[in-house]
Amino acid sequence: MPSTLRRALLLSCLFATFTCVAQTEAPFVPRAQQVVGPVYAIVGPLGQRSEANAGLNANYGFIVTDKGVILIDSGASAHGAALLQQAVQRVTQQPIRWVLNTGSQDHRWLGNDFFARQGAEVHALAATVKTQQAVAEQQMTGLARFVGQQLKGTQPCQATVVHPGTDVTITLGGTTLRWLDTSAHYPGDTLIHVPQASVTFTGDLVYVDRLLGVLPPSNVRKAAQAFERLHALAPRHVVPGHGRVTDMAQAQKESGDYYRYLIDNVGQAARNMEPLTETLDKFSSPAAFKHLQNFEDLHRANMNRVFVDFESNP
Ligand SMILES: [Zn+2]
Repeated sequence: MPSTLRRALLLSCLFATFTCVAQTEAPFVPRAQQVVGPVYAIVGPLGQRSEANAGLNANYGFIVTDKGVILIDSGASAHGAALLQQAVQRVTQQPIRWVLNTGSQDHRWLGNDFFARQGAEVHALAATVKTQQAVAEQQMTGLARFVGQQLKGTQPCQATVVHPGTDVTITLGGTTLRWLDTSAHYPGDTLIHVPQASVTFTGDLVYVDRLLGVLPPSNVRKAAQAFERLHALAPRHVVPGHGRVTDMAQAQKESGDYYRYLIDNVGQAARNMEPLTETLDKFSSPAAFKHLQNFEDLHRANMNRVFVDFESNP
């Protein structure tokens, strides 16, 4: 068979497979679940961004006050933001008056513009805004590959109320929030604690049910330090960045312990100038984490990044 024909056939097979996958993935409808009192979570699917999930493959949250709703994270596009708004509207008539971004990944903030146009105030810590500005263009291009036409009408729009500092307390609609920089997954990532309800929205510091990803901008040392601050807050309820609403025990086991595992084993091996490949092989199959979703895809790359980080900065 001529190679051009073979390539054409191969491409059409691949295309057929993708079409089939795209058609069978049921559309994700964001639903609010009550965490406690006026505090709700919207738990997104654990897999990759897609048209079916509208790029909402992360967790969101909101707090109903009698002056309006505080929404935590705004979705990956205007389209996704509208789906989040519908989930809120099934719970309360109150308008979304405040939008808070816990981080700078696409699904945390590209819906800002949708809510700002309806009069919501968008808040973020200064360090978060700085990263959003740096990554906006690249995110729009990257996201287009996953959600295509759904990006139409989406304008990257950073917070209009920017809070300097790394430990901020604000009160919105009578609800006091403590807002801490974690810089775990991306520089300027944050967590938001609601003392009156003993709930923490951890942003991408905590993943449960699936393995967390260590990306080139991630910092496992800062993550481990942020985990100590999370323990000090002692929330009864934890809304992780990804995975089910949970408690500190699961957060510790599936994220806190994993940061420590990477630092104490892979980071330490890099400090000792042990060879990379042997190190990755030696720690390739930790019993405590290999049941987590996405483990096969992420663990080796995570170790690799931690090794390189500690090698250049022991
Ligand atoms: Zn995330």
